[in-house]
Amino acid sequence: MIDGGATNIDSPTTPSNFGKLELATSTFFCKSSSNHNGLPVCGGDDIDSHRCYTFPASGPRYQCLSYDHRASSAVVALLAAANLDPNTTADQIDQLDLRFHCPSLPDELHRLAMSWRDAAFHARRFDQLQPSAWEVLSPEETAAIKQKEEANTGDVRYRFRCNICVHSSWIRRRDVETHLIGWHQIVDHSDPTTEFELHSRVPPNPVTFSSSEEGSASFTV
Ligand SMILES: [Zn+2]
Ligand SMILES: [Zn+2]
Ligand SMILES: [Zn+2]
Repeated sequence: MIDGGATNIDSPTTPSNFGKLELATSTFFCKSSSNHNGLPVCGGDDIDSHRCYTFPASGPRYQCLSYDHRASSAVVALLAAANLDPNTTADQIDQLDLRFHCPSLPDELHRLAMSWRDAAFHARRFDQLQPSAWEVLSPEETAAIKQKEEANTGDVRYRFRCNICVHSSWIRRRDVETHLIGWHQIVDHSDPTTEFELHSRVPPNPVTFSSSEEGSASFTV
């Protein structure tokens, strides 16, 4: 183990080492920028389904992935902030779908309500974040943030797909709405999830909230 609780991938591989790949702290990132949103490739399903077409097909399949210690340390801090076991898997924390906040981040970043994957992504870029810098948002704050995320038709992540077509691919929110209108004549998305599916491992584009006073967060629309 290295500091931060993640797998030391240099040690001999055993079945239990493979198990550690399921942990949320096993934060890998794709080195290719051309076909990836920059979020961690984390958890067995995520790694299994990762395809990188910019690296030579003749090379080892996962050569584009590299472990990031700083992001892993941040995930340790997120798990502690949320009172979760350090051995929480990526699947488990994906399902919890919490939102985190880091007042120590500069500029506009400290006003972002982040999924754990977004928090790992941002933590990777800052080397002096204290573990205690991360806070989990309350259920009330998180509910308000999720409403704002759902209303964000400008979400540019490839995390939506048509539920009516059989072989649909992951596209952006605006594109799925255009598709629903053009192909299925569906204009009213009163209950969008029946018409389109959301990717379970790609969180919404983070939205901002403003902390107006100590201890009380208010949300801007
Ligand atoms: Zn890749
Ligand atoms: Zn803040
Ligand atoms: Zn369709």
